[in-house]
Amino acid sequence: MHIRKTRLLTPGPTPLYPPALHAMMAADIHHRTQDFVAVYKAVVADLKEVMGTSWDVVPLACSGTGAMEASVSNFFRKGDRVVVLSAGKFGERWVQITQAYGLEPVVLSAEYGQAVPADRVVEELTKPGVRGVFLQASETSTGVMHDVEAIGRAAADTEAIVVVDAITGLGTMPLEIEGWGLDIVIGGSQKAFMIPPGLAFMSISPKAWKHEETSDLPHYYFSIRKEAANAAKGQSNYTPSTALLLSLAEALRYMKSLGMDKFIENAQLLAKATRAAVSELGLKLFAPDNPGAAVTAVRAPEGMDSGVIVKGFRDRFGAIIANGQGSMKGKIFRIAHLGYFDFPDLFAVIAELELILASQGVPVEYGKGVAAVQRVYAEAAG
Ligand SMILES: *Cc1c(COP(=O)(O)O)cnc(C)c1O
Repeated sequence: MHIRKTRLLTPGPTPLYPPALHAMMAADIHHRTQDFVAVYKAVVADLKEVMGTSWDVVPLACSGTGAMEASVSNFFRKGDRVVVLSAGKFGERWVQITQAYGLEPVVLSAEYGQAVPADRVVEELTKPGVRGVFLQASETSTGVMHDVEAIGRAAADTEAIVVVDAITGLGTMPLEIEGWGLDIVIGGSQKAFMIPPGLAFMSISPKAWKHEETSDLPHYYFSIRKEAANAAKGQSNYTPSTALLLSLAEALRYMKSLGMDKFIENAQLLAKATRAAVSELGLKLFAPDNPGAAVTAVRAPEGMDSGVIVKGFRDRFGAIIANGQGSMKGKIFRIAHLGYFDFPDLFAVIAELELILASQGVPVEYGKGVAAVQRVYAEAAG
């Protein structure tokens, strides 16, 4: 009651994996020494392993958006026609970045809470001159996921490269980078990778490197070709974020020890249990048709501002959960599952949600939502 532990429960930044946090204390190291070169090489190799690709992977010292920008500025030409899927705030970011660099995006939008149907993308790809497709694997602002496989496969026989913002897709859904033809796949440290914000990374296909050869857009700090050449030698173009790379090395070891399929299944089970719990409590999902496993967006009860729920979590329990972004603010709240979340976290979150709803006069039978989570756990644990 009087002691409240602060808990970070948002879909980025996510809860930190303690050994990865402690690893940052070894940051009194110079980045051009053999000791650090070994760390850098291990990070690149392990990133490839958890992403499941032998293609180039480069870490970058920036948040996820920096890698999104680099994927535009290094691989496209001014005036390139590209297809952009926009199903939420992060899809809108693709539109803004491609426009900022003078590309000509054909925007396929979906209403918030819906995915852009793959058919619409496939149809656009039959038109000549499309040089790229930009999408979110998981649109964190609404909780929806896209059919990455169908889009990747459809683009494979075209001139277009597929650029996937998988910042909350990695670690929450299968993504077969090479098998599905995902030319550029972008991740970020503060999502499923369980470490603080400040690092991003991207994988690059041979087809994307061909695009890079003819790119005419300005860039300097984010020179991906040079970055890839250096990464192969355990180096980065400029001073890397040593602390975060030490941290990431530790987190990757943990992810490898669990196995990526188990790591993904973990998020998927938590998402399934959350959907069951909120429906038991009479709440509605914001993205009922294509819900991803990174985050579950839930509509606040009719007539209640979702900020009341977010504030209830913070003030009563010290728990930081996410409100809606942009025009969704006040309408939805978001429960995260990606990275270092376990069932005990979810038992607590749902028990807290029941208490908060009851305090607002919503009729709640205590334990009903929690029992739904327990049933999913029991079924999965056997
Ligand atoms: C978090 C996130 C990003 C990156 O945001 P940054 O604040 O730049 O790290 C991009 N796309 C999606 C889908 C995200 O969830």
